[in-house]
Amino acid sequence: MTPPILRIAVPSPLYRLFDYLPPDGPHPEPRPGQRVRVPFGKGACVGVLVEVAQESAVPADRLRPAQAILDEAPLLPPELMNLLAWSCSYYHHPPGEVYTTALPVMLREGREASRRGELRWRLTDPGRLVDLATLKRAPKQGHLLAMLAQGERTTTELAAIVEQPLPVLRRLAEKGWVASEEQPCLSVPAASGTEMPPQLNSAQHAAVAALRAAAGRFKPFLLDGVTGSGKTEVYLQAIAPIIAAGQQVLVLVPEIGLTPQLVERFRRRFAVPMALLHSGLSDSERQCAWLMARDGHAPLVIGTRSALFTPLKHPGLIIVDEEHDISFKQQEGFRYSARDMAIVFARQLDIPIVLGSATPSLESLHNAQAGRYQLLRLPERAGSASHPVMRLLDVRQQPMQEGISEPLALLMRRHLEKGGQVLLFLNRRGYSPALICHDCGHVAECPRCDARLTYHSGQQRLRCHHCGTERPVPRQCPKCGSADLRPLGQGTERIEEGLKSRFPGVGLVRIDRDTTSRKGAMEALLQEVHGGEARILIGTQMLAKGHHFPEVTLVGILDADQGLFSADFRASERMAQLILQVAGRAGRANRPGEVVIQTHVPDHPLLRTLVESDYHAFAQAALVEREQAAFPPFSHLALLRAEAVDSAAPLAFLGAARHLAEGQAVAGVQLLGPVPAPMERRAGRTRAQLLVQSHARAALHRLLELWITQLEGLKEGRKVRWSLDVDPVELY
Ligand code: ADP
Ligand code: ZN
Ligand code: ZN
Repeated sequence: MTPPILRIAVPSPLYRLFDYLPPDGPHPEPRPGQRVRVPFGKGACVGVLVEVAQESAVPADRLRPAQAILDEAPLLPPELMNLLAWSCSYYHHPPGEVYTTALPVMLREGREASRRGELRWRLTDPGRLVDLATLKRAPKQGHLLAMLAQGERTTTELAAIVEQPLPVLRRLAEKGWVASEEQPCLSVPAASGTEMPPQLNSAQHAAVAALRAAAGRFKPFLLDGVTGSGKTEVYLQAIAPIIAAGQQVLVLVPEIGLTPQLVERFRRRFAVPMALLHSGLSDSERQCAWLMARDGHAPLVIGTRSALFTPLKHPGLIIVDEEHDISFKQQEGFRYSARDMAIVFARQLDIPIVLGSATPSLESLHNAQAGRYQLLRLPERAGSASHPVMRLLDVRQQPMQEGISEPLALLMRRHLEKGGQVLLFLNRRGYSPALICHDCGHVAECPRCDARLTYHSGQQRLRCHHCGTERPVPRQCPKCGSADLRPLGQGTERIEEGLKSRFPGVGLVRIDRDTTSRKGAMEALLQEVHGGEARILIGTQMLAKGHHFPEVTLVGILDADQGLFSADFRASERMAQLILQVAGRAGRANRPGEVVIQTHVPDHPLLRTLVESDYHAFAQAALVEREQAAFPPFSHLALLRAEAVDSAAPLAFLGAARHLAEGQAVAGVQLLGPVPAPMERRAGRTRAQLLVQSHARAALHRLLELWITQLEGLKEGRKVRWSLDVDPVELY
């Protein structure tokens, strides 16, 4: 009998699986979803067994045996394997990178799939009596005993004083001087699950009833409810019976949405192990959470986009909160949309899925209107809070002082006098987005990007926000020698400085990436806001999500105009979403909120629609524009990007790529470009792009499938870094 062929996804940028023979000697029966160690090139690596085939296109004498099958049983369940196979063909991405993305790093490296918790060490009674002076010849043992004399420590904590403590600890344990206990890898904190759910209002009730009725089969929902309308409460009550029935719920949240407050709300409601998957985890914590979910021991799995790849033993429901958020789209490497893939996953698992947002993406609204998703609406704020009043403030010809117009300053004063807090939003950090020479007009630019350097006055640095280039602020203009260098435009730092002189003695906090990078800094700033010492908050989009500021009565959007004049067709949607998300922070308690938007274009139709009616009217108008321009969701896009140090190479590659695509003659597909990218130079590389557009998704994918393998072989491709982005969210 001929041996089976193992078709393996090997971490490599190549668009194919690799064939191997089973390992020599005894080995587990090969099954898809196992990890396999294989020889690759001159070394070896860990791949995922995708298929067990009967024959191979590779000649028999060139097939090599795998080194080992690492898992007795498949590590990745069939449903997840199906999802990954689907995404390889949908996103046209190398399978090796797709399959390994799904694994926590430690498993990717081939380590044992164990969810054993860490060991916690303590001294035994005999250990306490040891005279450390007798251990002079074994200093490591002495250090460890001395440390443990102060209290219990985990292996990781002990690794801080002795390198590789484990063998030493084992020796101490053999002598009977120390003992260890395994920590549970996920625990349920005390006081979990003590909160009683509130009585739902009628809209919430209808939403929960619809979600519960859909249990056990695929059905997508769009939960569309203004901020504070009680969406989270709907999730909690929809989840309860699923957990009670022993099933699992996967909750995907945006990158900055996984806040302690959110986790706290789930904890207060449910006394169950919760697997949290976010970027702050250590490798072993991640592996623990992943395996607990896979083995069905974590009923609740909450995480950011990559948590989608957590296998679930008893899946019951998927929730994608703030579904409009672009952090669900991975923007590099394997460019997938976790939101879109979640829908596909729910269909495969045959379970309901709910996408929730106060400002749904136009794609999802379109899907709801087309009847593909059931729409659940929560039109009113829960409890007694009322909607904030929103209006435009025409700043043309108004005196402005550091970004704030006279009328806005007056309003701020009024709200502060009445004891309210004021939130100001400007999505630009630093002091000013440019530094200009007043004598000759020279502007400091990034040497590696087509971008200006942002002036940071606190640290006296010029920084490029695109590539990280940094330099001290020059004393003189490098062009004319003048010392009169002036900041041009406003960033949050400058607004803060202006406010200090305008509102002396009024408590002020600034929340942006610069003020919150230190660990614990964000919590400290929020504490100042909630404690009431801070009366004015100024911040970037970091303020827009997850936080409740019940005492804020006035929200000022300092600059709405950026989003109206961008080259990106999604910019106005983004701006509207941001404005409403920020506005939603205000007046959540019983104080009515007021939202004021400074603009130079008060007649802009989209802005007017947004303030005079609501997000839905805005979305409707924006959808009409999209349809007229044949942009998504009325067409489907893929973007081929290329970049290189050699400035001619990207266009040469894309030109050749276009030629190949034309040769495929797939009907109904348009090629736009190649053109230089909107920011042509970035981090020292020249960038260009070719857009592929079609009204029919099937036609687009037919072309991409034929095209991608040809692109791999293009000789022009060797001089550039290129990537294909299906359903791009940013056309850069
Ligand atoms: P969203 O997720 O839509 O922003 P939340 O679920 O956070 O809304 O609800 C906003 C506030 O209203 C929270 O403080 C929540 O506890 C409260 N809330 C939600 N539903 C109800 C209800 N039915 N009765 C009373 N309070 C509610
Ligand atoms: Zn000058
Ligand atoms: Zn730069």
